[in-house]
Amino acid sequence: MKIGIIGAGAAGLTAAYELGKNGHEVEVFDRAPFVGGQASTFDLNGSKLERGYHHLFLSDTDIIDLVDELGMSQILEYSDSSVGTFCDNKIYKFASALDLLKFTPISFADRIRLGLVTLFISRINDWKKLEGFTADEWLRKYTGDSGYDAFWGPMLKGKFGEKYFHKIGMTWVWGKIHTRFASRNNKFSKEKLIYPVGGFEQIFERMKNLIQEQGNHVQISKNVNKIIVEDNKVIGLKVHDSPSTWTSPQPLVNKSNDQTVLNSNPNIKLSTYKFDSVIATCSLPIFSRLIEKQIDVHNSYLNKLEKIEYMSAVMLILVLDKPFSKYYWLNIADPSIPFVGIIEQTNLVPPALYSGKHILYITNYLTKDDRLYQLGHQDLLSEYIPHLSKINPEFDADFIEDSYIHKVDYAQPIVGSNYSNRILPHKTPIKGLYLCNTTQVYPQDRGTNYSVRLGKKIATKVMENQ
Ligand SMILES: Cc1cc2nc3c(=O)[nH]c(=O)nc-3n(C[C@H](O)[C@H](O)[C@H](O)COP(=O)(O)OP(=O)(O)OC[C@H]3O[C@@H](n4cnc5c(N)ncnc54)[C@H](O)[C@@H]3O)c2cc1C
Repeated sequence: MKIGIIGAGAAGLTAAYELGKNGHEVEVFDRAPFVGGQASTFDLNGSKLERGYHHLFLSDTDIIDLVDELGMSQILEYSDSSVGTFCDNKIYKFASALDLLKFTPISFADRIRLGLVTLFISRINDWKKLEGFTADEWLRKYTGDSGYDAFWGPMLKGKFGEKYFHKIGMTWVWGKIHTRFASRNNKFSKEKLIYPVGGFEQIFERMKNLIQEQGNHVQISKNVNKIIVEDNKVIGLKVHDSPSTWTSPQPLVNKSNDQTVLNSNPNIKLSTYKFDSVIATCSLPIFSRLIEKQIDVHNSYLNKLEKIEYMSAVMLILVLDKPFSKYYWLNIADPSIPFVGIIEQTNLVPPALYSGKHILYITNYLTKDDRLYQLGHQDLLSEYIPHLSKINPEFDADFIEDSYIHKVDYAQPIVGSNYSNRILPHKTPIKGLYLCNTTQVYPQDRGTNYSVRLGKKIATKVMENQ
């Protein structure tokens, strides 16, 4: 069987690798000039750094096993996580459940209640019991107004914004809590996180090489422009070279606005590839564009597809000559600060990996039309920098040696209540066309581990249906 795959991220490469192991002919296309998708890296003065911060949890066994199978287990570095929350002009440590008792923005009784409710959620095994509730209604009811307003509310708003936070399903919170508890040796010990020293992309590069050794192809800088369908069956893909702007040093990926410009460019040369099956791992808005105007796709399918929305993510990456804080992960629960988190990479792995520099991601999840998401590199820097000294009064803009910006249009699917009724099946209404993307990860939150799992699953499905 000859299979075309759209996307050389964790899902696409895993599917290709599995299909290749079983003797199938596979061709993977990615419009970016690199593999790894959302978990790709860029060159930072000779070191590799993720465009968006990435780590693994102990429970991420699908990707840990894959790394083992690739013969690369030695690159996985296990470290203690350090988590804090900036609230009421102070950083509160949240490394273990006991730290919750010192979270003074709420009363002692409310801290106990917050802790017990979190423990209770971690003991719920059947997530379906929570499916019908939004996190907003469930958590407010059980943790009380003060615990919700000081802790859960800012977290949900930080991740999903004012527009969506009240829609998020309780199952999403369940998934987060279970992943985090599973990343501890016991409920009261510190969370452990894993980082592949040398960067995530080397895992994907190794997969690319193995896929090529299987006799198959991974083509980067190749933009899939159309999924070709005849008599309700997929027959191939139309592909063209990505514009050269993609090779710029700015770590851009998954920005899809340029597609419309591309489609209207008469100089673009399209190549046609014939396939028996196609797997699409791109986001739903891109997938929808690739299949739209096909007479065989019913509007009801497109409507269902378009109902699933996403948050976008923007990261400002700062290279500092001094550390910023002692935390790897700092939640910002202060509405006067225009970003929701600071992830200090060099508090998870040593600065020596980056020539002694300290690496900070300032992160925000926003809707695509948000003013902050529209800002360019320099404007975002000017907007954020004055707030850094609120968190660390000793911080000075002179600490910044370099900075980068990275935006992901379709970063985080909005997972509402009863989401399982809305997930699209992998098999589409078009014969031979399969969808395999982050909106289909559930009940856990999306992550490289789950894309690896999906990639394996889709490969099996395609082979079963041949
Ligand atoms: C800010 C941020 C932080 C994250 N942190 C973590 C973390 O700590 N740990 C973790 O495990 N996960 C994390 N994730 C999630 C993780 O990166 C993703 O879930 C995972 O990488 C998704 O892999 P994928 O292959 O499913 O999709 P993607 O990585 O999105 O791959 C899809 C690929 O399709 C390509 N594509 C799209 N359209 C076309 C087209 N028309 N033609 C050709 N190619 C196309 C894209 O270029 C892309 O490479 C994070 C994500 C973000 C955004």
